[in-house]
Amino acid sequence: MWREASTTMAARLFYTVAIWMTFIHCTKGIPWTQEKLHHQALTLTQEEISTALSHTDLAQMWLRDLRPLLVTRYPGSAGSQAVQQHIKTTLGSLGAGWEVTEDRFVSQTPYGTLPFTNLIATLNPSAKRRLVLACHYDSKYYPPQWHGMEFQGATDSAVPCAMMLELARALDEELKAQKVVIYSM
Ligand SMILES: [Zn+2]
Repeated sequence: MWREASTTMAARLFYTVAIWMTFIHCTKGIPWTQEKLHHQALTLTQEEISTALSHTDLAQMWLRDLRPLLVTRYPGSAGSQAVQQHIKTTLGSLGAGWEVTEDRFVSQTPYGTLPFTNLIATLNPSAKRRLVLACHYDSKYYPPQWHGMEFQGATDSAVPCAMMLELARALDEELKAQKVVIYSM
C-alpha cells in the first residue's frame, strides 16, 4: 500500500517535472533550440526603411565615431585602449541600455604574446535567441623593420565599427521601445 502510494507520488512528480520542462523548452511544439530553423523574417516597408535611415547622419558618424576610431590600434597599443574606451562610452551613453562586457585574453602572435579584448554589447542578456552583428576594431601591426609604417585600416575595419555605433545610435529609441514591449509581455 505504502509502496503503491509512493510509486503514484513519484509518477505524479515525474509528470509535473516533465510538463514543466516541456513548457519551458517548447513553444508552439518546437524546441527553442530549433526555433531559428523556422524563423520568418519580417520585411520592412519602404516607409519603415526610410524612417530608420532618416535617423542616421553620415557627417556626424565621421566626426563622432570614424575620426576617433581611425587611429593605429593594434592589440596592446595606446590607440587600441582609446578605441575600446570610445566604443564602451558610446554604447553606455545610449538609452536602450546596452550591457557591455569585456572578454580579455592573451594570445600567441608572430610578434609574441599580445593582449586582446573583445567588447560584447548585449541588449537583452536574458533573451533565448539573439541577432549578432560583429566587426573587429583592431588594426594590423607593422614591426620596426617596416620603417615606421602604420596601418589605419579604414574599411578593415574602422568604418564597419563606426557604422555599427551609428546604427545603435539611430535605432536607440526603437530598440528601447522594443525592450519595453518584450519585457511587458
Ligand atoms: Zn580585417
